[in-house]
Amino acid sequence: MSNVPVAVVTGSNKGIGLAIVRALCKQFPGDVYLTARDPGRGQAAVAQLQQEGLRALFHQLDVDDPQSIRALRDFLKEKYGGLNVLVNNAGIAFKVNDTTPFAVQAEVTLKTNFFGTRNVCTELLPLMKPYGRVVNVSSMVSSSALRGCSQELQQKFRSDTITEEELVQLMNKFVEDTKKNIHQKEGWPNTAYGVSKIGVTVLSRIQARLLNEQRKGDHILLNACCPGWVRTDMAGPQAPKSPEEGAETPVYLALLPSSADAPHGQFVSDKTVRAW
Ligand code: NAP
Repeated sequence: MSNVPVAVVTGSNKGIGLAIVRALCKQFPGDVYLTARDPGRGQAAVAQLQQEGLRALFHQLDVDDPQSIRALRDFLKEKYGGLNVLVNNAGIAFKVNDTTPFAVQAEVTLKTNFFGTRNVCTELLPLMKPYGRVVNVSSMVSSSALRGCSQELQQKFRSDTITEEELVQLMNKFVEDTKKNIHQKEGWPNTAYGVSKIGVTVLSRIQARLLNEQRKGDHILLNACCPGWVRTDMAGPQAPKSPEEGAETPVYLALLPSSADAPHGQFVSDKTVRAW
């Protein structure tokens, strides 16, 4: 088994994820895994970094596929005995003008952004080594979507005692409500992406609380963040930030020094803790 520190970035064959891997290759003292659902796209990205003189390693990971997540878990356990840095970056968004029915958009978006991220956490968080760092890439849209929720939902999502099971139930309820076209009546905002990112931010708050309760002495720091509005296939060419600039806050959180005890359980953008 290797004692080398190891970092994993999900959805990192392009966009912000690739920029996070690039920065970690330069700054993280250990092995950096670029992961992708499609091995061809993943290997091509590794080759691109190699051209730049950077060494990333590759492992397949489709966050929608529990088998794929378990295969990565087993690999990390076997080869490294755990994990030091996890960046949950993989995500999807339908374009604004997409004509796919809203209920389908809701189910598909929640599947990857919320349930996929959660499934990765379920398998990989138990592997986190002491002083590990976990970064869940959410979005500012989670905050605006929260403000678009009914008072009752806002209270639940801001609660310091909400459980992961309760959050999962609420995310499932959103999908079911969109199928019946009653989601707005039930207090949800009209954005599937926004609700999926509410899920990611609230999940991060819950996970940080559980780490406090169950692994206090291990100094693991876990946060959600927004990369900003970034020029990628998702956000388009008009966005103000380059992928490298978008990677700055996630990388800052991934590399918080071992002396740090904060931020933890926060929503962070531009390296600044934001109110939730
Ligand atoms: P992007 O360029 O579209 O990249 C998304 C990445 O996620 C791709 O590598 C994609 O792989 C991967 N992915 C999608 N579904 C996956 C799955 N099931 N399993 C594994 N990987 C999967 O988007 P981006 O702008 O870099 O976004 C990265 C993250 O930042 C997302 O979580 C996004 O919501 C968040 N974010 C972005 C912005 C922005 O302005 N760009 C703002 C706020 C938050 P494929 O190539 O195979 O599709």
